[in-house]
Amino acid sequence: MKERPRLTVLSGPSGVGKSTVVAHMRTVHPEVWLSVSATTRKPRPGEQHGVQYFFVDDEEFDKLIANGELLEWAEFAGNRYGTPRRAVLEKLEAGEPVLLEIDLQGARLVRESMPEARLVFLAPPSWEELVRRLTGRGTEPPEVIERRLAAARVELAAESEFDTTLVNTSVEDVSRELLALLGITGEREIGG
Ligand code: ADP
Ligand code: 5GP
Repeated sequence: MKERPRLTVLSGPSGVGKSTVVAHMRTVHPEVWLSVSATTRKPRPGEQHGVQYFFVDDEEFDKLIANGELLEWAEFAGNRYGTPRRAVLEKLEAGEPVLLEIDLQGARLVRESMPEARLVFLAPPSWEELVRRLTGRGTEPPEVIERRLAAARVELAAESEFDTTLVNTSVEDVSRELLALLGITGEREIGG
């Protein structure tokens, strides 16, 4: 019998490679559904509304909270981020696997409200490599990088709270491991 699809939460420090791994996984398996969060952060170059995030202002975010539209939300490094509730519940009710890419505080909230969720921690090969990746991405000014590195120390210390740790040395290897955790293994079956 096939394992019941469930909610998988991917967390890990900023710059570890969460977006890269998820994007790679979805080039191989476009059917993997990833929740699109709402955020008050400004878009980075190339980011599009409704694709990487729903970019909203503070007032709109307040409304999402007040109307109970968020499954969870958290403040991270000066901005707010939250998971729209309805789409996630619809997918789960349709029996489809759901992936959330959220921070540690969000992962803890999901574990409280949906204890059946599987929490996956993406860890860097080393602290030095994490700093290199976050700095090398070149998307944040130095003071924001500092704030994110401070958050990273807290996140790394919480690794043991997660069900599984994957070390992001190779994007391909980690994507394959994550797919297996989502219950999607091997090459994509055509017409199966
Ligand atoms: P996150 O989504 O966790 O904040 P990103 O996916 O934006 O992190 O990755 C941060 C930087 O690290 C990017 O420049 C990305 O290309 C790079 N990166 C991601 N995974 C790896 C890896 N396995 N090896 C080397 N560089 C990586
Ligand atoms: P970034 O600004 O780099 O895209 O994301 C910063 C952090 O916010 C990352 O750790 C990311 O996983 C987290 N994040 C993104 N969306 C959500 C969300 O909906 N809820 C929570 N709690 N964190 C989120």
